[in-house]
Amino acid sequence: MDISFFRRGIKLSRRARPGKIEQIPPPGRAVLSLQQGSGPPAEPSIEIGETVIVGQTLAQCASGSGADLHASISGEVTAFEDLHFPNGTTVKALVIEGDGKDTWAEPERDDKPLIASPGELLERIRRGGVIRQGSETKSLAEVIGEAMSPRGYLSSTGSTVAKPVRHIAVRFADQDPHLDALAAMTETIGDKTADLDLGVKVLASITGAEQIHFVLDNKQETPGLDKLADDNDYAVLRLDATNYPDLSSPMVARAVSGKEPDTAFKRVHENGILVLDVDTVLETALAARDRRPVVSKLISVNGPEGAGVFEARLGTPLADIVSAAGQKKEIGKVVLGGPMKGIAHHTLEFPLTKEISGITLFGRDQIDMAVNDPCVGCGLCSMVCPIRLTPGMLSRYCEFSSWDLAQEAHLFSCIECGCCAYVCPAGRSMVQFMVQGKSELLSTRRSES
Ligand code: SF4
Ligand code: SF4
Repeated sequence: MDISFFRRGIKLSRRARPGKIEQIPPPGRAVLSLQQGSGPPAEPSIEIGETVIVGQTLAQCASGSGADLHASISGEVTAFEDLHFPNGTTVKALVIEGDGKDTWAEPERDDKPLIASPGELLERIRRGGVIRQGSETKSLAEVIGEAMSPRGYLSSTGSTVAKPVRHIAVRFADQDPHLDALAAMTETIGDKTADLDLGVKVLASITGAEQIHFVLDNKQETPGLDKLADDNDYAVLRLDATNYPDLSSPMVARAVSGKEPDTAFKRVHENGILVLDVDTVLETALAARDRRPVVSKLISVNGPEGAGVFEARLGTPLADIVSAAGQKKEIGKVVLGGPMKGIAHHTLEFPLTKEISGITLFGRDQIDMAVNDPCVGCGLCSMVCPIRLTPGMLSRYCEFSSWDLAQEAHLFSCIECGCCAYVCPAGRSMVQFMVQGKSELLSTRRSES
């Protein structure tokens, strides 16, 4: 363990190179969650028994919220079933039994999308089902709407107080160690550079952002991206991805703006800086120009027997993806996401959803059980907390239900990065304490309103 006493975060090794992206064939049966991220679930617009083709809209959200859902395989809609998410919620999912034909819808292409109004472009992104991944996975259209919404009103004049989006930062490397889907995509971005440029310009047209930043790991070789940035006067920021969590959205926002962002309530995007992953920007281009919705995603797998980056259709069973990665033996623990920010799940019989960026697998002999001994007050957690919180105190407030004290100590500013848990010699479940505390405070607030 390498902890600098003068910087935030921790030093972690990353996988050497991501390798090529392997394609997973469309599954015979796709299970598609109506809930995509933290927004409201989409309302089905098809009936059981209907036949669908790839890209066809299956469910829609009201304007301004959520994202539409589309068929990821062609076949027949056979059922609505309950899907149990690892965070304990149960949502409805749509089941498609594939016909093996993989027939695609052919939406009308718009070769000049930048002529469209910002409102029209935003609607295309929402209808295309584009999601922003991050500490809170959300419809990209909703995130942009929140980022651009007024911050209040001046009572003296009645005029709105705006906080414009000044920066868009496009992230080309994964923030969580051992996930490398973004790095793999960046290695092979060559012929997609024009799409990337279009996606950036669509986002700039919607938000009016003044400055675009490409955020890269300092080990990535990207001549095509450097040229694109040069030609368009985009800034290039290279960070050391082994300094975790320097590639997280709050840290990137701080690096590009030079200001400490307000991280409360996971709303970094309301600080005038939109941090988006490269795959989200490419999906934006496809939604705006080709009207092509999101039906597949990249997923990074890391296990004791196999690892790789795969592109799979949404709704594909995770077990199929893990088996393609070469994992055969019994698995002791499944984490959806990376080792630092992922969430454990009890099964691989779960479909690929837009929220899942990776699968981390542990053998039985690799599992460290949390011991949750009492805090010994060593202070290591405060030294590594990137937000400069006092995690030891916060965890105790949450452990002993002192919710008000936790809130006063800025619990909601915690970005759940896991650095404190990583260094804690008492093996305390720090992030779980923080998440439980936030959840208790939010439910109390809801019941009081
Ligand atoms: S308190 Fe929150 S932000 Fe600070 S190190 Fe722990 S998990 Fe990260
Ligand atoms: S690292 Fe663990 S033991 Fe040390 S102060 Fe923080 S919570 Fe307490």
